[in-house]
Formats: sequence, structure tokens, C-alpha cells
Amino acid sequence: MTYTVLNNFCITLGVAPVHKPTFYSYMRGETNVREGWNAKAVRQGVRYCDLAIDTVMRSGKPVTLMVDGRYDSARSAQHCTVTTIEYDTRLVVDVHTLRPKTEGKASTQLEVPAVVRLLRGLLSRGLKIRCIVSDDFAALSPQLERLGIEWQKDCHHKVKNVRKALRKALKVPKKLNNPHQCVSEAQLLEFTKRELLDVLSNRFGPGCLTQKEERLKKSDFVGVVLKKMYPYGTTTNEQSLIVDPNGVTDFHVHEAGLWFLRAAELCRDEGGDSVSLHNDIMMIAEHWAGDHLRCMGDKELLCGRGGGPTRLPLYTRDDPVYDIIRRTLGRHCSTTVCSYYTEFRHTSAVETFQGRSSSTRRSPCTSRSRMSRV
Ligand SMILES: [Zn+2]
Repeated sequence: MTYTVLNNFCITLGVAPVHKPTFYSYMRGETNVREGWNAKAVRQGVRYCDLAIDTVMRSGKPVTLMVDGRYDSARSAQHCTVTTIEYDTRLVVDVHTLRPKTEGKASTQLEVPAVVRLLRGLLSRGLKIRCIVSDDFAALSPQLERLGIEWQKDCHHKVKNVRKALRKALKVPKKLNNPHQCVSEAQLLEFTKRELLDVLSNRFGPGCLTQKEERLKKSDFVGVVLKKMYPYGTTTNEQSLIVDPNGVTDFHVHEAGLWFLRAAELCRDEGGDSVSLHNDIMMIAEHWAGDHLRCMGDKELLCGRGGGPTRLPLYTRDDPVYDIIRRTLGRHCSTTVCSYYTEFRHTSAVETFQGRSSSTRRSPCTSRSRMSRV
């Protein structure tokens, strides 16, 4: 690429023109060697990774790496690129790209081989790898065992799957599209505060709420909304506002996810093992049944994530729903499964680095903002 081409390109895009000396100093290669932009960029990238590897090796300790792959497109991708970032320093230590054309495999089959090749390369350079953090690929397990590397999986990815499994097992109804049909607090919580305000002023006219009511935080605000909509008590909910008449809803499925994350965090902080993590996660079934005997000490934090001990029970232990929840959680969060989450790891830094769009996967950032909204 010449200076003029790049400069015209920038001007067309409306960005600042290129500084000529910078361009020439960047493009200057070995004496008498003319190399293209691409070769130059690759060489710079390799040099950067070499520096990063030197930096992380300096500590002498075995490292933890997070690994994630991305594709150039959702369908018939031509490239699968895997990036590795060291967990503590957040330095990118290697990037490896495989192409379906040259590998003779479908692009979706390339992530695991790319991860393995990348790890082999790093090991051969003398980097000691203790553990890698990645999404859940069954095919990766035997490969890592062979290389003698521990495996932790991404917690946020797992939470998404746990929620999906619960939703399916409990046949949780889809979100209602009109707040007027909501008869419970949990259903109303699915809407934003703005949406609820609009609905109320449409029906009762503007100014139907006092300023104080409008400023309430959402969990209290839905109580006010319900009182306005059902002044004589809700149609199916005698105890009004506190217990959910339809049993477990999407709101509770969401709560199970928060509970999982907090339990994994506690496990990391206290050096717990897969058995204690499994027990902590299963506790939510008892908590929802109104039994808070184990919600003590540091476990109070978990209880708080699930509405605290004052919330009315969601079901009794005779209720079939209790068994369904225990079975579903038991399967998806068994002690074997839990061993992959005891360090409470995630790959969000790699996802951010790769600029993954939220349409292909909800990034932890968006799920976090969803959490704070509820
Ligand atoms: Zn509790």
C-alpha cells in the first residue's frame, strides 16, 4: 500500500489524514526489502506476542490463559481465529487462524484444533501453562488431558445454559407483551420501569403517580403499579405482591443464574471444591421452598441474591416443581460439572478484544446490565 492510497482512503472516510513521516517509519522494513502492509502488520503482531510471552514468563509461574475463537461470519466462515490472553496481565500472547479450505474441515470444526495447535506452540516455547479458560467444547477435554493442562470453563456461558435448561424443564411461559396482562410482581419485573410508566400514564392519565412513587427503585415500583392496576387485590394473588401465583417464572430462572455466579465466586474466594460448589447451587431449591437453614454466614449472600429469607416460599417440597428443579439443577450442576467452575473464571476479556457482536452471543456486559435492571 502506498501513502497516497491510504491517505485518500482516510479522507474519504472523513477521518484524520495520515501523518507522512509516521507512515514511512512504520513501513520501513529491512534495508532494500519492500514488504506489503499485510506482511508488516503480521510481523508487528508476532513481535508484540513475543514481548507478551517474555513478560508473562518472567514471573516463572505457570500461567492461566483464556482462549476464545471467533469466525469472520455466522455462516460459511472462511476463517476461524483463536485468541489467547493471559489471565492476570491481560496480555494477548498468541493468535492462531485456521481456514476451512486448507484444513479440509467445516469452519465450526476448527476451533478445537486451533486451540490445541496454539497451546502446543506456546508449550514448545517453554511457557508453563497451568490452566486454560474457555467455552465448553467436549472435544477439548481429552486433548487438554494429554497436554497436562487443567480446564476451567466460562461461567457466564454456563449460566446461560442452566437458565435455558430450567426454562425448558419448567415450561416457563414466554414474556408477556403487554403489562396489562400481568397479574404478578414477577411478570411486571420483566418490563423496564420506563415501559411501566408509559402504560400507567396511558391508562390513568399523566400525573397518576406522585413524584415519590415515580422515584422508587424498580422492585418497589412494581408494587405500586400492581396496586394501581388491581386496587382490590390481584385477580389470582391473595397474598398480593409478594408471592408469585404462577410459581416459578422467568424471573426465578434468572435468579438461579445469579445464584450460580455468586456460588462460584464464593467457591473461588474460600478455596472450595466441586462438592461444596454443587451443594451451594442446589441450596436454591430449599431456599425457594422457604427453608433457609443453610442460608447462614457467608451463604447469606446467596440468600440475598434470591430475595432473602423474608420472601414467601415459592412452593412446598410436595410440589412436583421442587423435584423438577432438583433434577434439572442436579444434572446440569453435578459435582463433575461443577469442577469446571470452582475458580469462577470467564473469557469476557477475549470477547471484548475480538469485538464479538452481541447478536451472536450476549456478552457478559449486556447480561450484567440486565441483572442490574431486574
Ligand atoms: Zn435463603
